[in-house]
Amino acid sequence: MTLINENYLKLKAGYLFPEIARRVNSYIDSNPGTEIIKLGIGDVTEPLTPAVVTAFHEGVREMGEPKTFRGYGPGQGYDFLKKLIAEYDFKKRGVDIRPGEIYVSDGAKCDTGNMQEIFAVNNKIAIGDPVYPVYLDTNVMAGRSGVCQENGTYENIIYMPCTENNNFIPELPQQPADIIYLCFPNNPTGSVASRQALKEWVDYARQQRAVILFDAAYEAFITDKEIPHSIYEVEGAKECAVEFRSLSKTAGFTGTRLAYTVVPDKVKAYDTAGKEHSLAGLWQRRQNTKFNGVSYPVQKAAAACFSDQGQKEITERLQYYLTNAALIKEELTKAGHKVYGGINAPYLWMKTPDGQSSWQFFDTLLHQVGVVGTPGAGFGCSGEGYFRFSAFGSREKIQEAMERITAAGI
Ligand code: PLP
Repeated sequence: MTLINENYLKLKAGYLFPEIARRVNSYIDSNPGTEIIKLGIGDVTEPLTPAVVTAFHEGVREMGEPKTFRGYGPGQGYDFLKKLIAEYDFKKRGVDIRPGEIYVSDGAKCDTGNMQEIFAVNNKIAIGDPVYPVYLDTNVMAGRSGVCQENGTYENIIYMPCTENNNFIPELPQQPADIIYLCFPNNPTGSVASRQALKEWVDYARQQRAVILFDAAYEAFITDKEIPHSIYEVEGAKECAVEFRSLSKTAGFTGTRLAYTVVPDKVKAYDTAGKEHSLAGLWQRRQNTKFNGVSYPVQKAAAACFSDQGQKEITERLQYYLTNAALIKEELTKAGHKVYGGINAPYLWMKTPDGQSSWQFFDTLLHQVGVVGTPGAGFGCSGEGYFRFSAFGSREKIQEAMERITAAGI
């Protein structure tokens, strides 16, 4: 008899997006012809930039000729790409990361999800609430949580509420945490952490001999010059933090797939005898066993992002989304709503009006104006009472959505 991993049974069903789709479809069925505007998705809408497309074609052409054909590449990514990442993402910001400390992959989702495998099952996990669900679910699957309780939280997980009261920045936990997930700019709240806030976390982690898993998937959206793009801009972080980056939102690679994780040589964790081990060694071992690298044309396309022309084009795309975000923020604020985020992030986090629950507000928006967003409760208990708008989408549609909301007096 084959037994299953029963931790999977503890998972709450992947409820959020299917439930959104169910409500939208049922609305469309009873209101045929209504045009729905979707401001809920966390996926890019603008195409790859010309420099990227040219390099992608070139990579494919090389693969089609005997002299330039390549088979398996280095599992951790080609040096030509890792050198460019080290240069553009880190050196230009005064951070010294060696190309060898960079691990190229096909997604920050898999990296943030897989990283927990190299840690013992009895580590105590701390996550923000609301949160990008991957951090939590992968730890539940691995058996680091107890069961899901009636209020939707899992036993044995440290939740760090992120609310208006703390500017959506998690506070240091009361009980000791071994692995801390931080995400800035944040999905879903759009908040960013100051250097000082990150310094407190780095100091905490070093003192606790804990590890910070820092998800910087949205760093390219940071406009405020004072906000660090990388946790390594904070002193001491190279001893205690792993950083995840992705070209998904930065350069429109959600369907092309390229991300990278930085595991500095100095980050250590311990065995039960207290002996120190390098995380990089374990991560490399894990990846060598389970991952065979990203395709050459994709890495070639990614490398084009790290050129002066590539950066210029990507910045234009990012600016487009940030202008969308500014428009949403301005219109919703004018309509009397409290709106957070949207300045250094593609997400806006709105307080639902008149004490409506986030699902009630979802229905209000859908039924009154045919606009779809994401209920905050779907990201965790502390997301209740909030609603996420995404700035990914066409300017026209976003303008129309805002006009509908304003005209309906929502
Ligand atoms: N991290 C966060 C916070 C995200 O919101 C997302 C995607 O929505 C990811 C990681 C996944 O990125 P990737 O497309 O590289 O897997």
